[in-house]
Amino acid sequence: MNNTRILKVELGARSYPIRIGRSIAGLDTAFPESAGRSLRVVTDSNVEPLYLEALLGALSLTRDQVYVVPAGEASKTWDSAGKVLDWLLESRLSRDGCLIALGGGVIGDLTGFVASIYQRGIDFIQIPTTLLAQVDSSVGGKTGVNHARGKNLIGAFHQPISVVADTDTLATLPKRELLAGLAEVIKYGMLADGLLFEWLESNLDRILSLNPNSLAEIIERCCAIKARIVGLDERETGSGPRALLNLGHTFGHAIETYTGYTEWLHGEAVATGLVLAADLSARHGWITEAVAARCTALIARAGLPVAPPKGMTAEHFRDLMGLDKKVKAGKLRLILLRGLGDAVLSSDFEQDLLDETLAAAC
Ligand code: NAD
Ligand code: ZN
Repeated sequence: MNNTRILKVELGARSYPIRIGRSIAGLDTAFPESAGRSLRVVTDSNVEPLYLEALLGALSLTRDQVYVVPAGEASKTWDSAGKVLDWLLESRLSRDGCLIALGGGVIGDLTGFVASIYQRGIDFIQIPTTLLAQVDSSVGGKTGVNHARGKNLIGAFHQPISVVADTDTLATLPKRELLAGLAEVIKYGMLADGLLFEWLESNLDRILSLNPNSLAEIIERCCAIKARIVGLDERETGSGPRALLNLGHTFGHAIETYTGYTEWLHGEAVATGLVLAADLSARHGWITEAVAARCTALIARAGLPVAPPKGMTAEHFRDLMGLDKKVKAGKLRLILLRGLGDAVLSSDFEQDLLDETLAAAC
């Protein structure tokens, strides 16, 4: 891998590397953790024709060491996990074997979950191929599958032994998926790194044109933030710092639920959630209106939505956020901003100001 940048996720006595670089053909040097291991690859039907051959070549693997699931969120189920487990048992992978997740967040979450329960837990490596997976889902050890009753309801904390992010893979990613990942990047700047936010304001065009150095820069800076927060709060204990990674997500989840998880991508809903969180923070006087306007402007420039979907009302938001008019403010906790790059978990926000934010947006 050329010009590889290496970060470490430190978890007490354990740690694992995140390697960020280019050229999947040179990936053999990026995998010291896999040397001498018995390996199995899980990927999806979109990624398979694009990157599987190069990976198999780099690691001297054969097709019978690969399981391909249909692309898309519908594969993140208990049923798919069961099929992968059946295949692993049939192919007699031993406990010292290692899985490789080649794909986006769906593949990472599914493969990590399978790795967490196969023979009581085996190692796995993440090769994230979407921007969202490279800056977010591949780092931190949250794995799992969806259930008819909700997303990610079944899962485990299981950290990978390494993460390898190849920025070249983003060249084939549909633009809309790239932008959805960019929403999470903007989120990191807003919540923890004002300099990253300013850097994005100056370099957005380079990112949108897939400049490899600019991509590596944002992936590194986002992973550094996530690694630090995960190191402080591996299992997301209630009000610990990991909750801050959900900036914009309470509003975003309401939008995703309202639109039935089909029309809007997660990152698009988060983008609008970030706008609402900044607006509400400004109404409290915790950030200036000018800062909130900069957040909205960057998100709009990135081609992401800054307003809720047509037809969605303040009442819909209140319902879906579990905020009945009668429920006193203070029960719901929101991540809000005290400054650019400074998020806080707040239960002392004003209900009236939230109403103003929603009334202005809807
Ligand atoms: P995804 O894995 O479905 O990938 C999006 C689409 O892009 C898919 O169609 C996929 O086949 C395709 N694709 C992937 N890489 C490609 C490439 N290089 N070129 C062309 N197409 C490519 O979705 P995602 O956005 O990567 O991840 C979303 C999932 O991640 C959700 O299930 C979400 O719950 C999960 N997630 C997990 C965490 C975590 O901490 N574990 C955090 C955030 C999100
Ligand atoms: Zn998210």
